Amino acid sequence: MLDEKLEPIYDEVVRRNPGEQEFHQAVREVLVSLGPVVAKHPELAERKIIQRVCEPERQIIFRVPWQDDRGEVHINRAFRVEFNSALGPYKGGMRFHPSVYLGIVKFLGFEQIFKNALTGMPIGGGKGGSDFDPRNRSDDEVMRFCQSLMTELYRHLGEHTDVPAGDIGVGTREIGWMFGQYKRITNRYESGVLTGKGVHWGGALVREEATGYGLVYFVQKMLEARDEGLDGATVVVSGSGNVALNAIDKVHQLGGRVVACSDSSGFVHDPDGIDLDCLKEIKLVRRGRVREYAEARSSARFVEQTSIWTVPCDVALPCATQNELTGRDAAELVANGCRIVAEGANMPTTPEGISALREGGVAFGPGKAANAGGVATSALEMQQNASRDSWTFAFTEARLAEIMSSIHDLCFDTAAEYGAPRNYVLGANVAGFLKVAHAMAALGLV
Ligand code: NAP
Repeated sequence: MLDEKLEPIYDEVVRRNPGEQEFHQAVREVLVSLGPVVAKHPELAERKIIQRVCEPERQIIFRVPWQDDRGEVHINRAFRVEFNSALGPYKGGMRFHPSVYLGIVKFLGFEQIFKNALTGMPIGGGKGGSDFDPRNRSDDEVMRFCQSLMTELYRHLGEHTDVPAGDIGVGTREIGWMFGQYKRITNRYESGVLTGKGVHWGGALVREEATGYGLVYFVQKMLEARDEGLDGATVVVSGSGNVALNAIDKVHQLGGRVVACSDSSGFVHDPDGIDLDCLKEIKLVRRGRVREYAEARSSARFVEQTSIWTVPCDVALPCATQNELTGRDAAELVANGCRIVAEGANMPTTPEGISALREGGVAFGPGKAANAGGVATSALEMQQNASRDSWTFAFTEARLAEIMSSIHDLCFDTAAEYGAPRNYVLGANVAGFLKVAHAMAALGLV
């Protein structure tokens, strides 16, 4: 339920941003937690900090023309939403997927503000992307697209201004082509302008693993808070991309067993435990589908048109995309004895799903806390770039584990302080919001 003081603010967001359903959902989810904050900090309401935080500082929409290998011209649309810079330069990934439109970029950018604040690093919130579909495109085509996009975007970026990274459809390869074009246009080797770079040209060790690894460190802390552990736990992970593969890896390192994963064609169930080498060979080398995993492993079966959340587990980690875990899925997880759900993806659980999990006594770790390891390690990459240094894997991973532990404790303690013990959603929203709000108040009416 929304506090009555916040209801008109939400209504105004819906009115000013028509049709942007995912953005409305993300704003509502944060506002629902802020009732006790408004009561405790009337000065923030007077300064209209909540209204200001819901309005991006700047939104850039531009045309990206490019030519395919046959010479045909294509026109895509790209976005960069520079949402909030109270804590540092705008920071957040670029997503290339046909579903991208302004509402998706704004939802992701809005979430990013609070996520970045929770990391304790000096980074603001932003997000970008394009409706370009990189699937079935040659390397040359993707490179031409990245170069054309950066030819416009470069003027808005800078290591002290706006620092993009990867997201769905944007990995080290795309970051490389965008960085190359930025360098060419500006004539500056400005490493800190993009993160997620290759380790030989300014990238940080552990950045690739960071979101998945960080998620599992967060889950470990959630389990510890219940006097439980990962050892021997059965885990289901949706997706089989960057976040999912690294989450599977870390679960296995810590003694748990992942028995199912998916892609957009369906899921595989392997009661013996997912063979990560086999899955990586299919996904990263052959760029294949999860069905091929079931063909390669006799212990596994491929399932289409049924939700992955029907597979019984102790811990469920949605790591694919937004709104992939519904109220019905949550009810199924509860009925099967699941105890922890933590979001590797951004907003993968619907509001009905979150309510059903809460009512079923499942501990729920929201993405803005649980998947913050990626952006935190991006900030570590910026630190290394600024000091022209590079850290070892072990040192960087230890920093990541420390950051995830402190995010967990901040959310846990804030939830208790605001009268909602163990409610990580409230803890993350309130703690993230307060950091940004106090900085905005200090910087005056800008
Ligand atoms: P990715 O490498 O592109 O992988 C996405 C995976 O999700 C793919 O396996 C994809 O399958 C699958 N998928 C997409 N839609 C699906 C659906 N409807 N049902 C089942 N599977 C589906 O992307 P990623 O970097 O792992 O990102 C995944 C999520 O984590 C996103 O929400 C992203 O915003 C979030 N996130 C990522 C990072 C990061 O550092 N990468 C950081 C924070 C948050 P197909 O190949 O079939 O499409």
